[in-house]
Amino acid sequence: MEQSRRKFLIGTSIVASGAAIVGYNDTLKHAVTMTRRGEKAADSIYGNAASTEVTQKDGAITHENGFVVQPSVCNGCTTHCSVRVKIDTKSGEVVRVFGNPYSLLSSDPWLPYKTPLQESFKLTSAWNENGLDMRSTACSRGNLVYEKLKDPFRVTSPLKRAGKRGEDKWVSISVEQLIKEVVEGGDLFGEGHVDGLKTYADTKTLIDEQNPDYGPVANKLCVIGTADEGRQNYMVHRFVQSFGTVNFMGHTSICGLSMRAGEAAYLDDFVAYPHMKPDFEHCEFLLSIATAPAQAGNPFKRQAKLLAKGRSEQALRYVVVTPILTNSDSIATADRSRWLPIKPSGDLALVMGMMRVIIEEERYFKQYLSIPSEASQKALNDYSFTNASHLVIQNGDKKGEILLDQSKTPFVIDKTDGLLKNANTVLEADILFEGDVLLEGISYAVKSAFLLLKEAVFEHSLDFYAQQSGVDAQTITELAREFTSYGRSVGVDCHGGTMHSTGFYTTYAIMMLGAFVGNLNYKGGMSTGGGKFKDFNGSCYNLLAYAGKQKPFGTRIDRARKAYEKSSEFKRKIAQGENPYPAKDAWFPFTNALESEIITSSANAYPYKLGALISWSSNFIYGQSGSEHLIPLLKDPKAAIPLFVAIDPFINETSRYADYIVPDSVLYETWGVLAPWAGHLTKTTHVRYPILKSPNASFKNGEPISMDSFMIELGKALGLGGFGKNAINGTTAKFDFDKPEDFYLRAFENVAMDGQNPVPEASDEEIAIAGLSEYIPTLQRICKENWKRVAYVMCRGGRFADKSSAYDGNKMSKSYTKAIAVYNQTVALTHNALTGEQYSGVPRYYAPRLYAGKPIDMTSKEFDLLAFSYKSNVLSAASASVEILRDTRYTTYVDINATTAKRYGISHGDAVRVRSLDGTIEGLCRVKEGIHPLSLGIEHGGGREGEGALSVTINNERKEGRIARRSGVNINKLGLRDISRLNAPTLSDFVIGSNARQAIPVHIEKI
Ligand code: SF4
Repeated sequence: MEQSRRKFLIGTSIVASGAAIVGYNDTLKHAVTMTRRGEKAADSIYGNAASTEVTQKDGAITHENGFVVQPSVCNGCTTHCSVRVKIDTKSGEVVRVFGNPYSLLSSDPWLPYKTPLQESFKLTSAWNENGLDMRSTACSRGNLVYEKLKDPFRVTSPLKRAGKRGEDKWVSISVEQLIKEVVEGGDLFGEGHVDGLKTYADTKTLIDEQNPDYGPVANKLCVIGTADEGRQNYMVHRFVQSFGTVNFMGHTSICGLSMRAGEAAYLDDFVAYPHMKPDFEHCEFLLSIATAPAQAGNPFKRQAKLLAKGRSEQALRYVVVTPILTNSDSIATADRSRWLPIKPSGDLALVMGMMRVIIEEERYFKQYLSIPSEASQKALNDYSFTNASHLVIQNGDKKGEILLDQSKTPFVIDKTDGLLKNANTVLEADILFEGDVLLEGISYAVKSAFLLLKEAVFEHSLDFYAQQSGVDAQTITELAREFTSYGRSVGVDCHGGTMHSTGFYTTYAIMMLGAFVGNLNYKGGMSTGGGKFKDFNGSCYNLLAYAGKQKPFGTRIDRARKAYEKSSEFKRKIAQGENPYPAKDAWFPFTNALESEIITSSANAYPYKLGALISWSSNFIYGQSGSEHLIPLLKDPKAAIPLFVAIDPFINETSRYADYIVPDSVLYETWGVLAPWAGHLTKTTHVRYPILKSPNASFKNGEPISMDSFMIELGKALGLGGFGKNAINGTTAKFDFDKPEDFYLRAFENVAMDGQNPVPEASDEEIAIAGLSEYIPTLQRICKENWKRVAYVMCRGGRFADKSSAYDGNKMSKSYTKAIAVYNQTVALTHNALTGEQYSGVPRYYAPRLYAGKPIDMTSKEFDLLAFSYKSNVLSAASASVEILRDTRYTTYVDINATTAKRYGISHGDAVRVRSLDGTIEGLCRVKEGIHPLSLGIEHGGGREGEGALSVTINNERKEGRIARRSGVNINKLGLRDISRLNAPTLSDFVIGSNARQAIPVHIEKI
C-alpha cells in the first residue's frame, strides 16, 4: 500500500514536471530558498488568513468595513449554484466565494425564505455552532472560478480576425464597426464579398422553391448557445425568434442528450424533455449507472452533500456502476456503498439482464403497473401510473399505435372480468394481455405494452447480457434482487456515461427499472423537480411576447424535430414510385436540437447551406467527440459557414475560427434568471445581476458589451421587433427595451409577485447589507411600487420555497402527472432515415452501431480497449483559465488498470500514444487498480487549446499561450466518424443523434 502510494506520488511529480515548473516558478523559488520562513504571521491562531467580512459576538453580527457580500450565481459548471461573493469595496475585486444559505443548491437545510438578511449571517456563523448545520458552500471550482474575471486572455473589446481563420491573429474594433460589418457585410477580410446578417433577415423568401418545407431564408442563420445559465430565454425569444430562424441549439447533444432523451421517452414528452433525479435525501437504495454522485452529475454539489448525509445519517445504500472507481464510494461507510465495474457501453446489456431477472422472478410491482390511468391512480391514492396495460395494435395500418377511443383515452383489458374498457374506468388492468379485440366492427390484434417489453427483454438470455456487459450473471441477478428489495424509496440515475451509439435505449432501459418498483413521485424515489416561480412570463409582464415576433418555420439544419417522411424529398420519391429509403442522410424527429450536426450538415448543403453562425459561449470543437474533422470545414469560409460571429469572453477552441469575437460579461457581471435542472423538490428560482463592473468596451448608451447588449444593438440595426420603443409588454402598459436591465429587472419583478402571496418588501437595512444601494434609482424607475419586493428577491439571490413544502405525506408536492411510457408510441412509429427500419417502442438491446446499422467492432484485436471520458470533480469546460485550480488537479492522464499496463509493458508515468480508427492523442499514463481492465479512461477538462492555452496575436502584439493550460489529454480527439452517413460526420447515437464520446475502441502504446 505504502509502496504503491509512493510510486503514485513519484509518478505524479514526473507527470507534472516540465509544464509544472513554468506555472509554479514562484512557489518553487520560495520552497527552495525558504525566503518566507521566519516571517511573523499576522495572527497567532489564524495565521495570515484574510480578514473576515462579518464578526460575531454573542450572536450579534457586525459587518466589517471594506467588504460587501452579494449574492450571485456560479458558472463554474452547469449546476449554476447560487453563491455569495465577498467583494473588497475599495478595489472592487472578489476576495472569496461561498454558498448562499437561502439556496438548496448550496445548503441543506436551507434558510426559511423569510429569514432576515442580518439573521442569515448569524445563522451561518460560529454562534452556538450553528454554522455547522447551516453551512453553505461552493465547491473547489466555485471557490476559484472568479480568477476568470481578471484573466489576461479575457477579451474586452470586439475582435476581428486579421489573418485567415484559425491563424490566431486579431485586431480590436469598435462596437460600432462590429455592428455595421456584421449587419451590412461586404469585403470584410479582403477575401471577397461576405453577406451580412441583413441578407438573411428575410422571413418571406424561401430557401429552396423545390423544397418549400426548408422554410425561409432566415433559417440560413444558425444560433448556437450553451447550457442555460439564465439568459437562454432572452437569446431565443428576443433575438432568434425575432429574426425568424428555426435554428437555435444549446449544448445538450455534446453533453447529456442520451440521458435527456431516454428520460423524455420514459416520461413520454419529447417537447418539454423533462428529466428526473432521485430524491437523494430519502432514498433507501440508489442505483447510479454511467454517472457518479460526488464525482459528476447535476446538481453536482447538492447530490454530493445529500449522498454523504444519506449514507452516514440515514439508511441509504447504493451501488455505482461505472468503468472507474469514483468519489461516490466511501470506505468509511463499509458495504453501504459499492462500486460495480463495467466495461464502457455495457450498461444497456446489464440493465436488460436485470429486467430479465425481475420479470422471470416476478419481482416487479404488479399492482402499480396495473393502474391504467390518472383517474384510476387518484381513485387508488397512488403516486403515478404507467401505460403498461395499454394495448398496442399489432396488425394493419395502425400497427404500433396504442388503441384509443374517440376521446383519445386508451383501451385496456379489465383484469377483473377480462373485458375491453376505457382506461379511466378500470382500477386493475391486464398487463400481459395478447389477443384480438373487436372495436366498432374492426378486429385488432393487440398486445399490452408490458408484454412487448417482456418480449424485448426475453430476446436474449441472461448469459448473453452478462457477456455483453462484462458483468457476470450471478452479479446481475443479485443486483436485480437487491434493487427490488427496498419498496418504492429507490432511486435510479444515469448521465454522461450513456453518451455512446446506443445511449438512448440505455437510458430508457435504466429509467424503466424505476417503473418496476413504482418510484416516480414517491418520497425517496424519483422526482421531475420542484419547479420554479414564474419569471419571463408572469403576472406583471410577458417578456417573451412582443410586436413583430416571428413564427419560425421550416426544416432545421440538424434535421431535428422533423421526420424524414414529412420532407419534400420523401414525398417526391414516393410520387416517382421510388423506394424513399435511404434518405441522403440521417433525420432525428424527436430530438430537439443537435449542435453536433451543424457544421457537416451545412457543408453537405443538406438540407441547405447556412449563411451565418452566431455562437454564444459554445465550444463544440473542444467538447464534441471527433470534432477534429470539423476544423477544415470551419477554416474555409466557403465550406460551411460564410460568416461566423462568436460571443465569448475568451477565444476558445471553436471561436478561434470565428470572423468576429464579441466580448461577453463574465460570472458576477452578468444578468440571469434560472432554476435548477432537477434534484430539487421545492420551487426554486435564482437571480443574478451585475455586482461587479464589466471592463468591456461600451455602447454609446454606456452599456458594456455583452451577449445581452449586443443582441439589443444588433436587433435595432436589423430593424427586428422586440427591441427599442414599446418593446416590452406589461399587463397594463408597454415599456422601452434599450438595456438588459429593462428586461431582467422585470423578470425579477414577475418572480417577486408570483402567486397569491408576493414576497415582502426588503428593509432599508437589508438593501444596505446586500450592497443594493446603487440599484435603487433603477429599481424605482423600472419596478415602481414593487421595487422593494424586487430588492427582497435580489438580496437573497432569488426566491425559494421552504424545505417543509417538499412532500404531501409520501407524495412529492410537485408530481409528474402523465403516464410513464413503458411503450413509447412516438419512438415505435419512427423509421431510420437510411434503412427504413422501425425503432423499438420499448427498451431493447442493440449492439453498438453506426446509424445505418453496421455494428461497431468492440472486440477488435487492434483496438482492444474501450476509451471513456469521465467528469472531473475539479476541472470543467469552464475552468481552463483558472490556474489556481491546478494546485488541486494539475493535469489529466490516460488512466488504465494495472493488469492492462502490465500487458502492454507500460508503467505509471510513461508517455503513451492512444489511437482510434479516426484519431490519435499522446499523454502520460496513470496506472490504477480502480478501473475496468478492458477500458481506458480520461478525465474531462484537460488538453485545452483555447482560453490562453495557445498564443494569440492581437493588434500585432503576441500573447504567449500558457503551457499549464495545455497540459493533459482531450479524449474527443479520438472520436469516431460514422461512415454509414453522408461524408462521415461524427458518430452519434443512432436514434437521437447525441454525440458518441464513450466506448471508443482504441489501441495504446508506450512512446
Ligand atoms: S457545483 Fe461548484 S462549479 Fe458547479 S456551479 Fe456549483 S459551485 Fe460552481
